[in-house]
Amino acid sequence: MTEARRSATTPEASEATGVVELTGATGAAEPQGARLGERYAVPSGWQVATLVGRRTESPSAETLVLDVAAWPGHQAGQHLDLRLTAPDGYTAERSYSIASGPTPSGAGRVEVTVQRVRDGEVSPYLVDDFPVGSAIEVRGPIGGWFVWDPARHAGTPVLLLAGGSGLVPVMSMVRARRAAGDRTPFRLIYSVRTPDDRLYTDELDALAARGDGFEASTIYTRAVSLTALRGPRRLTSSEVASWGWPPELEPRVYVCGPTGFVEAVARMLVAQGHDPARVRTERFGPAGD
Ligand SMILES: Cc1cc2nc3c(=O)[nH]c(=O)nc-3n(C[C@H](O)[C@H](O)[C@H](O)COP(=O)(O)OP(=O)(O)OC[C@H]3O[C@@H](n4cnc5c(N)ncnc54)[C@H](O)[C@@H]3O)c2cc1C
Repeated sequence: MTEARRSATTPEASEATGVVELTGATGAAEPQGARLGERYAVPSGWQVATLVGRRTESPSAETLVLDVAAWPGHQAGQHLDLRLTAPDGYTAERSYSIASGPTPSGAGRVEVTVQRVRDGEVSPYLVDDFPVGSAIEVRGPIGGWFVWDPARHAGTPVLLLAGGSGLVPVMSMVRARRAAGDRTPFRLIYSVRTPDDRLYTDELDALAARGDGFEASTIYTRAVSLTALRGPRRLTSSEVASWGWPPELEPRVYVCGPTGFVEAVARMLVAQGHDPARVRTERFGPAGD
């Protein structure tokens, strides 16, 4: 087991002063070597959040609901950084896209969805062990390019291409559209390993059933349901062309997921004639889906 996972603890959500106290997570026995009660300064930009809820999205993914007192608000597509501090002072930081729709400044609640990466250092801890009531350091929101804002971008067709947990920031865009009562044509192409791994299944199906201009297509890369007409496979260029928008419509395009997925899809889009300047990408990590 890796160091952060073995001994991760989180700062107590107590301060507005920039100083927090290290404690074992929600009353767990004091880990050997912990600096419990020791105080340290929170560097600028970080604030302490409390995990106030969690939802299971798939056998390997959980949505974490964070209460962040001084959250400045965010736009759909932005991400935040989470930082865990072990009792011995070791820290681990990771970026997570914001899953919830945009919130106004001071709203205080923000959601992320974390997919467990096998043998990962941080994600297994967040998915499997991080208990409600615990505190964690948060910095954000971050990013101004991979965003969709109904106030500025409504009316231009949107094409969303997501691989695995790359669905998270584009789901925030879908939620932003819905919350604004916007009817901008949205097409989502979602590549995921198996039906069990699909995130936000009920919500996506309900949104697609509304018939208000949101369409979703899903492809499975590892296993399909028993009733599926085709076996698992990777997304093809012709599927991107037929399920997406033609380049002549000049859609805003967002591609997010593992690096291999993002690069392969971006190449297809450009080869189909999409202007690279309209193709916004976000890479989550090295693995392909
Ligand atoms: C801007 C941004 C937004 C992100 N948003 C999300 C999000 O919304 N949800 C989410 O679950 N993750 C997201 N990630 C990925 C996240 O930051 C971590 O990389 C991921 O949780 C793995 O961390 P880890 O500590 O568990 O694995 P690590 O200990 O860092 O890595 C362990 C092993 O897994 C490999 N690996 C690392 N990352 C991935 C990955 N994403 N997929 C597959 N293999 C990987 C590493 O090469 C290594 O071999 C985002 C990344 C970025 C840069």
